Amino acid sequence: MTTLSPEYEAYLDSDVWQAKRQVILARDEYTCQRCGQQPRRLEVHHRHYWSLYREEPQDLVTLCSRCHAALEGRPVQRRGGWILFFPRKWKTWLAALVLAVIASGR
Ligand SMILES: [Zn+2]
Repeated sequence: MTTLSPEYEAYLDSDVWQAKRQVILARDEYTCQRCGQQPRRLEVHHRHYWSLYREEPQDLVTLCSRCHAALEGRPVQRRGGWILFFPRKWKTWLAALVLAVIASGR
């Protein structure tokens, strides 16, 4: 689920979800169930969405943000954005390319 509906976003803010989330985190002992780490920031993942809004504990699992992102196939949110993953050499090359494109467009 890459696009969040307003309804789903509101649900994630609700007391019902927050309570459910705490139950899952406690059940999983605040440990990521994929890599076994105990980072400060944990997320509760929906194994599937067909029980959305009436999830049972077995429908949910605790994951760290890294595993959660990997599982959902989205990039990990990092301060500074994805360009940080590029080696310095590439960044210089990219900057040169962008400048060349801008220059040629004039
Ligand atoms: Zn993990």
